[in-house]
Amino acid sequence: ALRLAAQRRAVNEVLGPLRLTHADLEKVQALMRQEMERGLGKHTNATASVRMLPTYVSHTPNGTERGDFLALDLGGTNFRVLVVHVTEEGISMASEIYVIPAAIMRGTGEGLFDHIIDCIVDFQTKQNLMTQALPLGFTFSFPCQQVGLDKALLLTWTKGFTASGCVGQDVVQLLRDAAQRKQHSGLQVVALLNDTVGTMMSCGYDDPKCEIGLIVGTGTNACYMEEMRNVGTVEGDQGRMCINMEWGAFGDNGCLDHIFTHFDRVVDETTINPGKQRFEKLISGMYLGEIVRQILLVMTEKQLLFQGRPTSKLQTRNIFQTKFLSTIELNGLALRQIRTILNELELDASFEDSVLLREVCQAVSLRAAQLCAAGLAAVVEKMRENRGLDRLSVSVGVDGTLYKLHPCFSHNLQKTLKDLAPNCDVSFHLSEDGSGKGAALVAAVACRTA
Ligand code: ADP
Repeated sequence: ALRLAAQRRAVNEVLGPLRLTHADLEKVQALMRQEMERGLGKHTNATASVRMLPTYVSHTPNGTERGDFLALDLGGTNFRVLVVHVTEEGISMASEIYVIPAAIMRGTGEGLFDHIIDCIVDFQTKQNLMTQALPLGFTFSFPCQQVGLDKALLLTWTKGFTASGCVGQDVVQLLRDAAQRKQHSGLQVVALLNDTVGTMMSCGYDDPKCEIGLIVGTGTNACYMEEMRNVGTVEGDQGRMCINMEWGAFGDNGCLDHIFTHFDRVVDETTINPGKQRFEKLISGMYLGEIVRQILLVMTEKQLLFQGRPTSKLQTRNIFQTKFLSTIELNGLALRQIRTILNELELDASFEDSVLLREVCQAVSLRAAQLCAAGLAAVVEKMRENRGLDRLSVSVGVDGTLYKLHPCFSHNLQKTLKDLAPNCDVSFHLSEDGSGKGAALVAAVACRTA
């Protein structure tokens, strides 16, 4: 019993820094709020860690949008071209996935956009759309300084793209230039948008209260409808504008340093962008498995796991996938099945090891959901204050595999959000194909309000 008590103490010592109190989360919420204000301010924007980028989307759908649209989706797992029909009966679409070879992702900008035009032409030919120039919405999920709905300067590439000559350029113009080079006249680009905006818009078509978009997949980001009078970076005070927060970078100025653990620092240091996207690295699918692996290594070293013997597999970066967290945390999953996962990592796991592994995964995914909730709490509370309401009722459109497939993430997120923003009633809707549908709807709303 003494040995067990000592072991428990040692486990708590390792996991303690990952366990956030209500006060910790309130502090994160307050810091996010502060960074949001700074990001929105004309003179403070340059030094804020959340960029609060204007999107020039000023209305969510009202359900009267109609028409046929083309949509492009670049920056998710796949590049897709879509045709979207918005009718009285609802939205239908056809799409095609195209591969962007690594050589093109990392080649020249001209090569990349020429390739995109080739894909569009292939799609239009297959779909018999060559004769009409349908309005096109371009979901482009990289940080952009937008200066109009159809004018957006690329700030930096992310997600493995490095095509030269694009940073600082207007992405829509790069696409139009490529169309001209390829003598393709049937292209009418009306809007460029971030995937968070697409997610918000696609849910907004079914629910007028949807004024927030959230992504928790490979990365994490959010957008919401802000009052124009608060957007210091754009002229004008009337109405609202959707703001792409780029919240993955929250904390890159050091304001979250008190939250980071040894494991977070190690994970950050081994990424291709150390010091960047620090909030994202606590939350999203690309990193949670790796955080768990770092904890397992330390626990093994402390003789708390696997009889103190780490295998070479466990020492391999990214070997512990985020989807393992989903399986391991599944309610009612037999410990035997957890052992099977561990055996695949060539770890000879006892039942005690399996129990402890589950505890580690729970600590990591709970913290991720709680931090995401703290960010959202800052958003909904700001919206409530903006509108001078005692209570705010609002919906969030959500996309991303981690949110969708993890067994506890969404529950923990919603529960924490209730604690942190008790005066807001927030409902969550899964977005179906937000980037395709959303791109068409932004184009449609633009045509409707033009
Ligand atoms: P993207 O954000 O690039 O559009 P996704 O939303 O599909 O892509 O998210 C991909 C991420 O989801 C990957 O980082 C992966 O680790 C994670 N993931 C995949 N399957 C699961 C799962 N079953 N549970 C939790 N996370 C998962």
